[in-house]
Amino acid sequence: MSPVPPVVGVLAIQGDVPEHLRALTAVGVTARPVRRPDELAVVDALVIPGGESTTMSKLAVDFGLLEPVRDRIKTGMPAYGSCAGMIMLAAEVLDGRPDQQTFGGIDMTVRRNAFGRQVDSFEAVTDLEGVGELRTVFIRAPWVERVGPGVAVLGRAAGRIVAVRQGNLLATAFHPELTGDLRMHRRFVELVRSAGAAAGMTTEE
Ligand code: GLN
Repeated sequence: MSPVPPVVGVLAIQGDVPEHLRALTAVGVTARPVRRPDELAVVDALVIPGGESTTMSKLAVDFGLLEPVRDRIKTGMPAYGSCAGMIMLAAEVLDGRPDQQTFGGIDMTVRRNAFGRQVDSFEAVTDLEGVGELRTVFIRAPWVERVGPGVAVLGRAAGRIVAVRQGNLLATAFHPELTGDLRMHRRFVELVRSAGAAAGMTTEE
């Protein structure tokens, strides 16, 4: 057990970065923006914020982060994606741009802007496994249309899958960083701590 809190990065090339940094700091970890591969290399885990996945995809390529994030995910780094971040963690995207890239890692198919075709944004109460009932905000949100056998469904809204976990990866179609409720971030940090303990990780630099 390390007394040093984990260092959790927030991918800071686009999207609602400050909100995630604030929520992570509030739950007691060291939170840092990640814009460059050398900044990625020193974090224990990564949050991929909401925003616009097509822009995030393009900037991840331009910033030289696409392959480094893919590699860290493949080698077990915990990651949490909200909304556009969920799309970035998906193996397959429907209604994306043809050249849109993702980091992948979660064996799922997401449909971009799926709820947004009906209504741009809405709130719901979502019963999340391991968290409880949460007020959830959806903004041009994706939903999950397919999950592979290794993926646990953690929650649904309007009958659609909106929260999943596969190993050390967590994704939600909603934005817990916008409601001031810290339980989702706490849940992710628990996962980060247990992944670190399992790997014998220390967080000294
Ligand atoms: N519709 C956005 C996308 O495709 C996601 C919206 C969000 O993150 N609020 O990336």
